[in-house]
Amino acid sequence: YRHGEYSEVAVSTPEGFVTFGRNHPVVLVAGPCSVENEQMIVETAKRVKAAGAHFLRGGAYKPRTSPYAFQGHGESALGLLAAAREASGLGIITEVMDAADLEKIAEVADVIQVGARNMQNFSLLKKVGAQNKPVLLKRGMSATIDEWLMAAEYVLAAGNQNVILCERGIRTFDSQYTRNTLDLSVLAVLQTLTHLPVMIDPSHGTGRAEYVPTMAKAALAGGADSLMIEVHPNPAKALSDGPQSLTPERFERLVQELAVVGKAV
Ligand code: PEP
Ligand code: MN
Repeated sequence: YRHGEYSEVAVSTPEGFVTFGRNHPVVLVAGPCSVENEQMIVETAKRVKAAGAHFLRGGAYKPRTSPYAFQGHGESALGLLAAAREASGLGIITEVMDAADLEKIAEVADVIQVGARNMQNFSLLKKVGAQNKPVLLKRGMSATIDEWLMAAEYVLAAGNQNVILCERGIRTFDSQYTRNTLDLSVLAVLQTLTHLPVMIDPSHGTGRAEYVPTMAKAALAGGADSLMIEVHPNPAKALSDGPQSLTPERFERLVQELAVVGKAV
């Protein structure tokens, strides 16, 4: 690909195709860190859809630091995502951790997420590359840009051309105020290095709900093609990532604020 050429990733959703790419409106992905129960996922789906989101995110299989932390409801959560898809018309994005679950995840998901912790799980990358659902590849928390792009190359080389890159913050030295350092320099750097669409995740990128709107706006001003925002109906009670989750009301207000920044949402 020559500089100036960009790939488009067109994703089939219940309400038609949504396209990620340079010459398309910003794609909004929103939803809870984890799928907790039917009521919360369906309610969140309807609320974020009404606010303008295109995709619902929600983890069924969760890569938690502690084995004693909530691990996600697994297969039963996939059924709840299917219900939320049906009820809202939103496309679904959810994470695969184990290739053994790939087939059943692909039955529900419109985009398959490979999380930061699996960015260099090469056998998993080969397997998501060998199936035909689009892939969202999060940057590893300590991955260089070249390592990230080579990880994407694994998926492309296996035959799947529909890859979206997601910056979600990297490890630096300050963890007192921010969980990670959201590396928005990738917006400038990747323009010269890749044709792939770029998503920014300011939720994991900051770890704090109060910082998310500012970084979301900065991402759009920098030319991001898509945003991923964690939204929970009751962040204080969330089973994972509550501190970085926006309420549906705050998300709705953020979408309105985004309308005046960057390209159209
Ligand atoms: C997530 O999206 O909830 C998640 C676990 O993200 P990451 O892989 O970026 O930590
Ligand atoms: Mn999360």
